[in-house]
Amino acid sequence: MNIKPISEWGLPAANRPLIIAGPCSAETPEQVMATAHELAKRGVTIFRAGIWKPRTRPGNFEGVGAEGLQWLKRVKKETGMLTTTEVANTTHVFETLKAGIDILWIGARTTSNPFAMQEIADALKGVDIPILIKNPVNPDIELWCGAIERLSDAGISRIGVIHRGFSSLSKSIYRNDPVWQIPIELRRRRPDLPMFCDPSHISGNRKLIEPVSQKAMDLNFDGLMIETHIDPDCALSDAKQQITPERLTEILDKLVVRQRESKDAKLTEMLEELRAHIDEYDNRLLEILEQRMDIAKQIGQVKKQNSVTIYQPGRWGAILKTVVEKGQKKGLSDNFIEAIFKAIHQESINLQTEILNNLHDETPTDFRG
Ligand code: PEP
Ligand code: MN
Repeated sequence: MNIKPISEWGLPAANRPLIIAGPCSAETPEQVMATAHELAKRGVTIFRAGIWKPRTRPGNFEGVGAEGLQWLKRVKKETGMLTTTEVANTTHVFETLKAGIDILWIGARTTSNPFAMQEIADALKGVDIPILIKNPVNPDIELWCGAIERLSDAGISRIGVIHRGFSSLSKSIYRNDPVWQIPIELRRRRPDLPMFCDPSHISGNRKLIEPVSQKAMDLNFDGLMIETHIDPDCALSDAKQQITPERLTEILDKLVVRQRESKDAKLTEMLEELRAHIDEYDNRLLEILEQRMDIAKQIGQVKKQNSVTIYQPGRWGAILKTVVEKGQKKGLSDNFIEAIFKAIHQESINLQTEILNNLHDETPTDFRG
């Protein structure tokens, strides 16, 4: 099933980035309407508000429920903005369709759950509504792709994704680690998919919304979903990361949106030349990796013949220390060198394990029956 480019979604004409803004949660009709009017005045054309809120622990504000859909209808009527809300089960789907919500979004916790995704896809069969799919909570691109496929297989043609970062065990300045390689890889696999970034849930605080939005622009995202509240400090959910409509305008005015491609022939030529060099280096890297793995396999054979264990902590520790030091002298960051060499070392271990388990048969072909 083909996915329609965002220009064919029938949305109000807008420059990149397309902005979706509004509160984390619809709380009261007054809060919803005041926020909506401020945003519409500032040129926002798509209004978000959570009606059913997935909360990590029970007892927190879990959303106003279906009643809030009427407030979103009022937003559309009074401001002309399109409306969007999160759906997590079939009841949500039916209620939102009945209320005429324009765009649905799937939350991170739902994308992580194939049963829920399939139920939602089944409930949407034959319905032509745009849907935005947030990444799953954990950094698993296959789960994200699976959710996209389930909706696409159900016949939905206007599908987009929202990158909202991933849970992480390590301490970070972000609430949800952006792991930018994942949306980059998704774009490589599915260049047809419109991509939004949700800097609010990535950041978890107001300070980082601006740099994360800028990063998303530099990585070619089509739009931004930013939580905006008329009185953020008093918000019933995600208060720390919500910003005022005024601050939203300030951030958007400062964003540098670079062109995706240049029409300048000289520049294009220069980039092509540099890219040719990159391709050349990539080829050389691949050849070197092939040679390095060949040696690792030979070492594997020797270890096997002499009954020596594969993993030699002393040797690995020494390699890592040396390459990090050498990398520093070449201006290569410790993190980068560590990540590359850990991957190389892991692959060597994998290959040697296969040899030990006889997966690489050394028997000459003539003796194999
Ligand atoms: C939200 O958008 O308010 C929300 C709950 O998002 P996520 O699914 O990304 O946590
Ligand atoms: Mn939120």
